Amino acid sequence: TISEGGGGGSRIMVYVRLRPMAKKEKEAGSRSCVRIVNRREVYLTELTSDTDYLRLKRLRGRHFRFDASFPESTSQQDVYATTAADLVEGVLQGRNGSVFCYGATGAGKTYTMLGTVEKPGVMVLAIKDLFSKIRQRSYDGNHLVHLSYLEVYNETVRDLLSPGRPLVLREDKQGIMAAGLTQYRAYSTDEVMALLQQGNQNRTTEPTRVNETSSRSHAILQVVAEVGKLSLIDLAGSERALATDQRSQRSLEGANINRSLLALSSCINALVEGKKHIPYRNSKLTQLLKDSLGGPCNTVMIANISPSNLSFGETQNTLHWADRAKEI
Ligand code: ADP
Ligand code: MG
Repeated sequence: TISEGGGGGSRIMVYVRLRPMAKKEKEAGSRSCVRIVNRREVYLTELTSDTDYLRLKRLRGRHFRFDASFPESTSQQDVYATTAADLVEGVLQGRNGSVFCYGATGAGKTYTMLGTVEKPGVMVLAIKDLFSKIRQRSYDGNHLVHLSYLEVYNETVRDLLSPGRPLVLREDKQGIMAAGLTQYRAYSTDEVMALLQQGNQNRTTEPTRVNETSSRSHAILQVVAEVGKLSLIDLAGSERALATDQRSQRSLEGANINRSLLALSSCINALVEGKKHIPYRNSKLTQLLKDSLGGPCNTVMIANISPSNLSFGETQNTLHWADRAKEI
């Protein structure tokens, strides 16, 4: 269960998932610089040549501790059961929940969230679980489940289930919503995987790297089950929006990088520091997720990392970011 933090809300549960070494990384001669020490601890070490004694002394490895750390052998089902299953239960009791996947491009965010037909990820497993729980408890036939799937790219919101013109955000009594967004009435899990895969095809990808599924957009799946709402977010690759210290933050903000990811960091920092004003309005992503970040809701962050020493910098930044997030 999610432990209660101050102010009637909950703190964020933060997890790290290490993916297996990719064939491409092996071929490039990379070695593993990450070790999952136990169920909670991750050890990151910068690899240096054995003879480089001074450097070796200076660059000691570092331990990070999270609510759970998943080694490369962890199954999709295990990741779901540990991170998101409680949130699905919460949604049926009227408590909103959200799951974010954070990490550099290629670190395993989409695999964790969407997965494959053989190995479905958190989005699909959550919906499956939701359906089975609704059936088990034999709620009446009117217990509706609606899905919407949208992306935020360059501060533009688009419907991934019905691509077309950008959507306008409107605020009403219920909160902020995207006007005209498709609300797909889901009846069974079978249709969901196909629907989400198709939606994912509609995501905006890096124009210069079309061969890679390098996503520069945040994909948000919202599952509304009459009483509560579950948001599942496959964030854009974090590699260019990393800001772990104040000095780099300023220069990064000057550059036109991913505003939503920075805004998400700012909101998390403000929540960490217990500030009264949380700058949700700074980006479309944080506006859309306002009711899922602060206040009484369940929030889960899954930081995805590669084991390769070639991704050392990105992994280090991701772990620092996740380390910061867990203080909420
Ligand atoms: P991202 O969405 O973060 O850019 P992907 O989810 O697309 O990264 O993962 C990059 C590649 O690594 C894909 O080919 C994916 O299938 C593979 N992969 C990622 N995580 C795992 C995992 N836990 N087990 C097996 N393969 C994985
Ligand atoms: Mg992806």
